[in-house]
Amino acid sequence: MAEFDAVVVGGGIQGLMVAWEIARHGGRPLLLERNALGSGASNASLGIVHGGLRYLQSLDVRRWHRSRREQLWFAREFAAYTRSIDCVMPLYRGAFRSRSLFRTAFLLERAMARVTGLVTLGRKAHLVTPAEVAGGYPIPRAGLVGGAVWPELAVDDPLGLMRNIAGRIEQAGGVVREHEEVVALDLVGSAVRGVVVRGAQRETRYAANTVMLCVGAASRSIARRLDRDLPALSARTLAFNLLLDVPAVSGQAVAVSPVPGRGRSYFLRDRGGRLLAGTYYAPIEADLGRGAVVTVPPTLVEAFLKDLCAAAPWLKGVSILETWAGLLPDVDGGGKTLRAHDLVLHHGDHGGPRGLWTLLGTKLTTAHALAGEAVNRALFKPSRQRDQVDE
Ligand SMILES: Cc1cc2nc3c(=O)[nH]c(=O)nc-3n(C[C@H](O)[C@H](O)[C@H](O)COP(=O)(O)OP(=O)(O)OC[C@H]3O[C@@H](n4cnc5c(N)ncnc54)[C@H](O)[C@@H]3O)c2cc1C
Repeated sequence: MAEFDAVVVGGGIQGLMVAWEIARHGGRPLLLERNALGSGASNASLGIVHGGLRYLQSLDVRRWHRSRREQLWFAREFAAYTRSIDCVMPLYRGAFRSRSLFRTAFLLERAMARVTGLVTLGRKAHLVTPAEVAGGYPIPRAGLVGGAVWPELAVDDPLGLMRNIAGRIEQAGGVVREHEEVVALDLVGSAVRGVVVRGAQRETRYAANTVMLCVGAASRSIARRLDRDLPALSARTLAFNLLLDVPAVSGQAVAVSPVPGRGRSYFLRDRGGRLLAGTYYAPIEADLGRGAVVTVPPTLVEAFLKDLCAAAPWLKGVSILETWAGLLPDVDGGGKTLRAHDLVLHHGDHGGPRGLWTLLGTKLTTAHALAGEAVNRALFKPSRQRDQVDE
């Protein structure tokens, strides 16, 4: 008989949510993390649990609903680790991001909230005057016509949150082990019977009929090692944030753009009293995802700083305290377009072992929803379904 109901590989937000989902439904999961918990992309995050307002700008009501529902769940479930944060988007004359665009999205959101009963967090989204924008940051004033302010949920201590989930897994009867790397599968015929793990001292085997790979950026290389190459699992976009040695003067998250009101924008938010800026994305050719820390090439740090200083000139000459980086799934392995949709894939449906699953999440917000959907399919209601789950 199997020792565990499932082995969950990867101790980032996705693996933790999966193991917890199994444990709280009466199953016994074993979660294995090759480094320390949260050492992948999850701890590098800007920590904004999005409620999906951006999806309403493209009228994607289903994704708005999923994000808002999950954001509210996060706020309830992790009240000690989250707080409401106002996001501020300065608006400029003649730009695409206009007062009317945000006014329409806000109205639509209010209507959707009435229909679905999903309230918003904190203060209602609203428009403000130029004098009220930016919570004390000297953002460019030329052409500024006001700002859009909407509430989101912020996580200030992602690692603390992940450790809290690990505690809940263990309380519910699951097991969490760090510094144990899954290196092979135990197979009987074409079905999974467990995993082979390399720890500090020796090799160990754990028995389970279901193995759920939640290894983020390592998904494609692990699939290649344990099963076969599955290009759908590409993860090649580098994403990083910089913690700057500048006091954060506002509790808000303020967006700044190198060309005010247009193109790429970065959020500046408070993290432990300092300014956290992000997120910068760049295609990367080499696989940097193997070690505990993803190293960002200095040229890319410089490129981000240059862009940031064009957007926020008062940051010129600032020192960097930390660089937090991770690799994220992209659409096609080219590193240019971030994957927007979560993926859950049963290798058995692609010619691989039965009982082997890969989950590729795209956001903190929806990690719990993806976990629920995948666990339901893998353990409770097995059925052949499409791989993509959030459309
Ligand atoms: C800079 C940055 C900013 C971001 N900002 C936000 C944000 O504001 N809001 C938001 O919602 N999302 C944000 N994201 C995205 C979000 O962080 C990710 O979608 C999420 O953390 C992915 O979680 P994960 O568990 O899938 O992957 P990871 O956190 O990368 O976890 C995978 C884990 O698997 C482990 N592992 C790999 N191979 C093995 C093996 N063989 N055996 C055992 N363990 C293994 C790794 O060590 C790692 O810990 C951001 C991401 C980055 C990088």
